Amino acid sequence: MINEKLKQIKSGKLSAKQNIRNFLDIIGKKNKDINAFLHLNPDALADAEEIDKKIKSGFKGKLAGLAIALKSNISAIGMPVTCASKTLKNYTGTFDADIVKKIRQEGGIIIGMLNMDEFACGISGETSSFGPIINPRCPSIVPGGSSSGSAAAVAAGLCDIALGSDTGGSIRNPASNCGICGIKPSYGRVSRYGLLDLSMSLDQIGPMCSDVYGCALMLEVISGKSQKDPMAFSTPVEKYSKIEPTGKIRVGISPEAEKLCLDSRIKTIVEKKLSSFIKKTSSEKKPVALKYIDLAVQSYYPIVFVEFFSGTRKFDGRKYGLKIEGSCGEEVLRRISAGKEMSKAEHKGKFYRKALQVRDLIKSDFDKAFEKTDIIVMPVTPSLPQKPGSKITPEESYAFDALTIPASLAGICAGVVPAGEIQGIPIGIQIIAPAFREKLLINAMSEFSKLE
Ligand code: GLN
Repeated sequence: MINEKLKQIKSGKLSAKQNIRNFLDIIGKKNKDINAFLHLNPDALADAEEIDKKIKSGFKGKLAGLAIALKSNISAIGMPVTCASKTLKNYTGTFDADIVKKIRQEGGIIIGMLNMDEFACGISGETSSFGPIINPRCPSIVPGGSSSGSAAAVAAGLCDIALGSDTGGSIRNPASNCGICGIKPSYGRVSRYGLLDLSMSLDQIGPMCSDVYGCALMLEVISGKSQKDPMAFSTPVEKYSKIEPTGKIRVGISPEAEKLCLDSRIKTIVEKKLSSFIKKTSSEKKPVALKYIDLAVQSYYPIVFVEFFSGTRKFDGRKYGLKIEGSCGEEVLRRISAGKEMSKAEHKGKFYRKALQVRDLIKSDFDKAFEKTDIIVMPVTPSLPQKPGSKITPEESYAFDALTIPASLAGICAGVVPAGEIQGIPIGIQIIAPAFREKLLINAMSEFSKLE
């Protein structure tokens, strides 16, 4: 429990240095089997000593003494920011991302850099150039992706809080597979300065932790406007970590989302959790129509292909690492090739524009739904995760995000908490709230996480 740990650190029962040392010990024992960390910060213990000195002289940073791990697409000075790709295998961060600065200001200690699907493309943790990540909660299924190392590190107890990034589900999907909590913030809630792009109009950095409080606290720290990212909104950051009961609210359920979920056992777990929530809070269940969400996957990929192609043009082998086309894996190359084709002048932007039109339809359906509901609840994935090493087609892999992509396209916030298990496989529940209603989202996530 993050809250308990912070109390121990503040009261001097646990030093920051001891906290980091404990994690380094566990990482030393477990990481070779899990492959969650790609790099450990050699200065972590020294940084912790500094924090201990500051705490003694009255420093009250919100994350003081906690071990924080970063997905390898987030820039931090002196750390390898590889995106788990051979393309950037020798690239070292030359500046701190906005969120890293904020974490350090609040006394968080960067313990290391995490493995992931290459350039955040994937759902399995198996497209990394540095070997697959193992699911510590259930090794017979993949850990999910693309923030696979982030979820695995949290689930195996290798850090206090991890940061991931979510473009179409990359925080929510691995959180569900590894039995932890995670939040994809509203687009523009968190600065993207220092995050390497997958798709710049969708990407958001978000927290992953074993409890909702840890996610809330981290989100409170990293949210807010930025001098460097004009798309980060100045909407005031509420005190997310002051978690309150939701009371009676209106919960939307979408028949279209139910249809997209192909496994009745997953549906049953979500329905059961929802019923207990309704009962406990005297809330109201309301059907909402999300008529176009079956087109989410088809519209998401053209957007990602085109934006990813554009974002990767800087990896031409001159300034950063190797030329991407000559060094990346199959999935990354597929996306670059598709993006290159779609961006050709002769197509006059028609694929991208069509996709944006569908995105608008999905967004306006959510807007309408939120006129009569406060949150919407649905499963995280349409089916059970695959076994490690299974061969699935790109289409099958893309289809796995059918239930997480809609909230991404709408730019709204969504979180996952554990909801149950199917034959030992952890299953999460997805809670979705309107843009910039993270406080409501977190209160609801906390309530859901406490249900029997
Ligand atoms: N699985 C999706 C993709 O490969 C989502 C990735 C993400 O959210 N970063 O694009």
